[in-house]
Amino acid sequence: MMRNAPVDHPDALRLVVELSSVYVACDDCGHSRILRLDNLTKVAELGVHNYMQLCRKIRCSECPKKPPAFRNLTIRPTWRCDEVLQSIA
Ligand SMILES: [Zn+2]
Repeated sequence: MMRNAPVDHPDALRLVVELSSVYVACDDCGHSRILRLDNLTKVAELGVHNYMQLCRKIRCSECPKKPPAFRNLTIRPTWRCDEVLQSIA
């Protein structure tokens, strides 16, 4: 059985510009941070267009560099349209 990679994520092909923020936690050291709109705008300018590409880019700033498959990150995206739905509900 293959491990669930971000590639299999249903949101994999959604665009970075649709995100409002991304919560990132490292399961190895416990360090967490939130990528906000200005961070996301910056990565989009660097050529990262969809969520799958973004997940490959994200790494823990505290841990030594590792290939994406060996990172233990919890990544929780917040999509702009979901926020709209929440404010209507
Ligand atoms: Zn870490």
